[in-house]
Amino acid sequence: MIIDGKKEAEILSDEIKKEIKLLKERTSKVPHLSVILIGNYAPSEIYVKNKIKKSKEVGINSDIIRYSSDVSEKEILKKIKDLNEDSKVSGILVQLPLPNQINKEKIINLILPSKDVDGFHPKNVGNLASGYNAIVPCTPLGCSLLIKKIEKNLSGKHAVIIGRSNLNGKPMAQLLLKENCTVTIVHSKTKNIQEECLKADILVAAVGVPNFVKKDWVKNGSIIIDVGINKLENKIVGDVNFDEVKDKVKAITPVPGGVGPMTIACLLKNTLECFKAHST
Ligand code: NAP
Repeated sequence: MIIDGKKEAEILSDEIKKEIKLLKERTSKVPHLSVILIGNYAPSEIYVKNKIKKSKEVGINSDIIRYSSDVSEKEILKKIKDLNEDSKVSGILVQLPLPNQINKEKIINLILPSKDVDGFHPKNVGNLASGYNAIVPCTPLGCSLLIKKIEKNLSGKHAVIIGRSNLNGKPMAQLLLKENCTVTIVHSKTKNIQEECLKADILVAAVGVPNFVKKDWVKNGSIIIDVGINKLENKIVGDVNFDEVKDKVKAITPVPGGVGPMTIACLLKNTLECFKAHST
């Protein structure tokens, strides 16, 4: 089965849209997402444009606060403080990557955890790791929702995650632990990745290496989630060799059209959650 991330993202977005409509009728307010965009790195421009477009479609108001690439760290920190204090703003997103003069950690740590729609603040990271309520990074959240569509009960499943980034691998592991999976994370220093992957009932690839996972790395009947977005000879491919693997597994996400759309839908979900947290 090929997991249709676009369709699942539309279903989730529709639910969010309905909830926002009800909240608007009740409170006359809607969520507001403020996006800080620094410089003119083309992929960031595209990501932000898409996030704003999808926000609008579900009824989330938004604004883009643009800075040139030589903006000072002080100015960005000041803006974040203002947005933290602005009761109209439900969520703050600082589009990464940042120019060298700006310390990413300082930026992430200053965003109010309850407005941290990316789920990167240490308080959200800690809450997720402790099994408490947290805002969860959008991509792993989207992956977990896709996995749950295929398999409701994940208890006892062996999940293998390739990659240990704060953005993907680590929060993915926490989410699957919460579902009672037995979780293995592999990375660039792991001795025999193929051997580990072959044990996976659920395999999540977040490596950033095109076609890294091959047919003889996956178990028959497993679920494969491909987070990778890699540009290759004018086309985008994932971290999994889709054509080789697809007939051997129970379900697999394509690239594009798998995890990507769910990531944006989960940003809308997180923005709505932040809004609700601030209006109760
Ligand atoms: P990252 O920060 O570069 O992390 C990559 C991870 O993969 C690291 O843990 C690294 O190990 C591991 N790795 C790299 N090469 C390896 C190798 N040869 N063998 C084993 N492990 C290896 O990347 P990321 O931000 O997590 O992103 C991963 C991919 O997901 C990228 O293609 C990115 O574009 C994509 N992505 C997609 C979405 C989406 O919405 N679909 C969102 C975000 C990112 P070490 O820790 O040992 O270095």
